[in-house]
Amino acid sequence: MIFNKREELKYKSIKGTKDILPDESHIWIEVENRIRKVMHTYNYKEIRTPIFEETKLFARGIGEFTDIVGKEMYTFTDRGGDSLTLKPEVTASVIRAYIQHNLGEKQPLTKVYYISPAFRQERPQAGRLRQFHQFGAEAIGSKNPAVDAEIISLAANIYESFGIRDFVIKINSVGCEICRNEYKNILKKFLIDISNKLSPESQKRIDVNPMRVLDSKDENDRIATKSAPLILNYLCNDCKTHFAQLQDLLSFMNVTFEVDGRIVRGLDYYTKTAFEIISTELGSQDALAGGGRYDLLVKELGGKDTPAVGFAAGLERLLMVLQKQNQDKFQAPRPKVFIAYADKSCEKIILNLAQKLRAKGVPCEIDLLNRSLKSQMREADRQNSDFVIVVGENEVKSNRLNIKNMKTGKVEEIDLGNLENYFLSSNG
Ligand code: AMP
Repeated sequence: MIFNKREELKYKSIKGTKDILPDESHIWIEVENRIRKVMHTYNYKEIRTPIFEETKLFARGIGEFTDIVGKEMYTFTDRGGDSLTLKPEVTASVIRAYIQHNLGEKQPLTKVYYISPAFRQERPQAGRLRQFHQFGAEAIGSKNPAVDAEIISLAANIYESFGIRDFVIKINSVGCEICRNEYKNILKKFLIDISNKLSPESQKRIDVNPMRVLDSKDENDRIATKSAPLILNYLCNDCKTHFAQLQDLLSFMNVTFEVDGRIVRGLDYYTKTAFEIISTELGSQDALAGGGRYDLLVKELGGKDTPAVGFAAGLERLLMVLQKQNQDKFQAPRPKVFIAYADKSCEKIILNLAQKLRAKGVPCEIDLLNRSLKSQMREADRQNSDFVIVVGENEVKSNRLNIKNMKTGKVEEIDLGNLENYFLSSNG
């Protein structure tokens, strides 16, 4: 059935979700492959976890008082009565898998990456979807600030590998259980004093998550908290040393960064390093990636006390930047050869020839719509195939084929039995 207007469609994709259509899927494939390539240069291995997990994993792993757990998760009860949730991010699942499969015993430093859909019930807008895709990496098993530096450089390197340079890496330290608690009390006092100047959202956060008030996007909140105490001035010696070492290492690795005391990332399990990568190309949703150290999470989820650090990045946001910079013009898959028939009686022969070429891995296309030769040629052109072969009675009788190179216009005649060899040799 054909519909004239979109409103008449009976079924539409759900708000905040997107179809990746045939003329754009090759961009996704190429981008994902390039991400994988950079991940492999840092010796991270891919991990794939299920789309849904027990709800309590995320409640625990992300934090009860975060926006994600509080109001954004797609949670449902299955027929067995279990509460399940579509993963709103991937770190909790990775750590669950790390503990469940004893990955730490096989490898003292477990380095994994993922490319995965994620689901959050947010208000959709440019760069903010309800089903989106994240790529990210986790290094589990070391306190060494060199791992933080590696993770930050890995994230930055992925953007650089696409020729993207218009981004800023902002780093901070959110301290540890000891120094952060002391700081939180000081910050709370400051925020209570200015609470009448804060947005209702930030007012609510003073008690449960005061540090999040500092990274509020609300302009009035920003003005009101301009002179707020920042954690960098309250770090304990251990956290201070870790942060100084990280900066030193990044400088040695030629990774350019800015220190920004307002990067807080909001989760309780973040410790020490927190960072964000901000694009100067995107509008209000300008965060390309975020990450940090989370030394308390593995234990919190029932594993041994194991330090870890990682990052997560939005794939759609990377694609948006690539599109803006006109850097997403990747070659789509296309048939190398289009085999047309001059006469319907030759249909079986072209099916057979295509079968042979495909078996040798040569992408080819034939007409399946009973089209005239003229419209087959138009189709070959539209498909942008490198070569065209027309099979008619003459060709069948003589056992010879003309192969036309569509770029040079050159025509070569070969024996029908030599077709596969032609395309496997340097000609094709
Ligand atoms: P987060 O852990 O929330 O900081 O997410 C990590 C990255 O995922 C962000 O920096 C964004 O690039 C991307 N991201 C998060 N939420 C969304 C969303 N709703 N739609 C598209 N991308 C998102």
